[in-house]
Amino acid sequence: MDRGTITVIIGPMFSEKSGELIRRCQKLMQYGRKKVRAYKPTEDNRFGEDDIASRIGYRLPAGHIPKEMTPTVVSQVLTETIHADVVAFDEAQFFSEPIVELTEELARRGKHVILDGLNMDYRGKPFGSIGELLAIADEIVKLTSFCACCGSPDAAFTQRIVNGKPATLGPLFLIGDTESYEPRCRRCFVPPDLAEAERSKG
Ligand SMILES: [Zn+2]
Repeated sequence: MDRGTITVIIGPMFSEKSGELIRRCQKLMQYGRKKVRAYKPTEDNRFGEDDIASRIGYRLPAGHIPKEMTPTVVSQVLTETIHADVVAFDEAQFFSEPIVELTEELARRGKHVILDGLNMDYRGKPFGSIGELLAIADEIVKLTSFCACCGSPDAAFTQRIVNGKPATLGPLFLIGDTESYEPRCRRCFVPPDLAEAERSKG
């Protein structure tokens, strides 16, 4: 049996994490002749099929699975991937905590597990189970984007903007369309507490 490995691809929004995951999977399929099964989280609790799409335009067929990793979801993934060499998870920060055990189990079964996700939320804090996944990874790929303020190529943060200004503290998932996100470097990133202070200064 093949030796299992775990690869975690992290970075801010607009760093082409999904594109990196898709390119790696396609290379393994086309040149490595590996069987790949990919998954992405779905908003509702239904299983289904839908491509993973990167912002630049790469696409890969994938199964939809609920973010809430119930024992049913875990066993479905383990069953579906019996003959897979590679198992990929897009937007892994959204999956609940059993994603860590599932990843370990897949690797134990000899699979190459590739996950991509945001390592930090809009506050600049660790996102979901990504920290634990990084701790158990064999390989870490850290991507950056270009800072929306100063243009530097080392943007590692995702700035939430609400009504044109850096966001103050709010829910992790915003409902509505008044907010947007942009990549920023450490010098230009404004975390919620600083945004709050700047606002109260007037
Ligand atoms: Zn900057």
